[in-house]
Amino acid sequence: MKVLVTGGAGFIGSAVVRKLVSQQLADVVTVDALTYAGNMASLAPVMEAPQHRFVRADIRDGAAMASLLEKEAPDAVMHLAAESHVDRSIDGPAAFIDTNIVGTYTLLEAVRGYWSGLPLPRKEAFRFHHVSTDEVYGSLGPSGAFKETTAYAPNSPYSASKAASDHLVRAWHHTYGLPVVTTNCSNNYGPYQFPEKLIPLMILNGLEDKPLPVYGAGANIRDWLHVEDHADALWLVLTRGMPGQVYNIGGDAERRNIDVVRLICDLLDDLVPSGKSRHELITFVTDRPGHDARYAMDISRISGELGWRPRHSFESGLRQTVDWYLGNRNWWEAVRTGRYAGNRLGLGANGVSTAPAGAP
Ligand code: NAD
Repeated sequence: MKVLVTGGAGFIGSAVVRKLVSQQLADVVTVDALTYAGNMASLAPVMEAPQHRFVRADIRDGAAMASLLEKEAPDAVMHLAAESHVDRSIDGPAAFIDTNIVGTYTLLEAVRGYWSGLPLPRKEAFRFHHVSTDEVYGSLGPSGAFKETTAYAPNSPYSASKAASDHLVRAWHHTYGLPVVTTNCSNNYGPYQFPEKLIPLMILNGLEDKPLPVYGAGANIRDWLHVEDHADALWLVLTRGMPGQVYNIGGDAERRNIDVVRLICDLLDDLVPSGKSRHELITFVTDRPGHDARYAMDISRISGELGWRPRHSFESGLRQTVDWYLGNRNWWEAVRTGRYAGNRLGLGANGVSTAPAGAP
């Protein structure tokens, strides 16, 4: 089986590529435009593997996508390329509309052209897997969880752009018969995550004795999914999911942001003791505009139909993640000294504030 993975140099995409190649599940063509979030160093473990190939290309370039598909003749496309950071979408929504909506549309059209020309058995077996987010469902009160049937109510430019892309994928299935599967997942964490997101930012700031900025009172609740559990779930959905179906994926780990940050402080104090506790670095900063209060996922469909459950507990997954950042300074120092030093994003001021960031 050959799989074309878009966004494969990003956080989740690279975890998928590393899994597929290292476990010899598929031949992989990684397609990535290498925006600020793409990082070839995340693909280092598979770059020499004969069953992996990297192509730098933009999903918004329809001609490039069409010729790549003809040339590589994949059996499936896993679509993870996106602008992915809510705060950046508040400062500059245009890139989110371009990549997440127009880019997904452009890719869908290229894939439809390629898929239409496949011989029947390959055409039936083909899959387009669209990777999306729980944020399309909006925000929850203190109880309940998002189901696949929950009405869409996206609140940020990021989630609105992902919701639009989900609708396009759905329509390409219903209108043209393209065999698609869509997954909506909760907040991912784990190795190789770009340090603009809450968990790596707090780990690295804690290591560098910098403030740990928590948005508002830190009371917002997210469900945390280890990226390796997510990659397992994506492979299962790609290979065993029903065409046209949507699957919610969650980590069964709802936590308040402040509790996540406190746990990171405990882990750093334990693993890398310094003169003072990292808890003293916690600083409460202006909240994100329109910050969703709570997300939680009902994973009964994927666990009931496909037998998937997360393997990592949040506590052990977070310890493994902190360990990974401790052991991989080269990876994150190159990012922190180059593309992103940790400045505050998402105040709707095109990123002009220099305060550090602090929300997932
Ligand atoms: P990421 O920002 O780490 O990686 C995105 C990748 O896409 C980067 O390598 C980037 O270079 C590439 N890319 C961006 N625009 C492109 C374009 N026009 N053409 C080709 N490549 C392009 O994102 P991530 O965290 O790995 O997220 C992957 C997917 O999962 C996204 O679709 C995101 O919406 C979704 N998702 C992420 C999370 C999370 O917690 N990280 C949660 C739910 C859903």
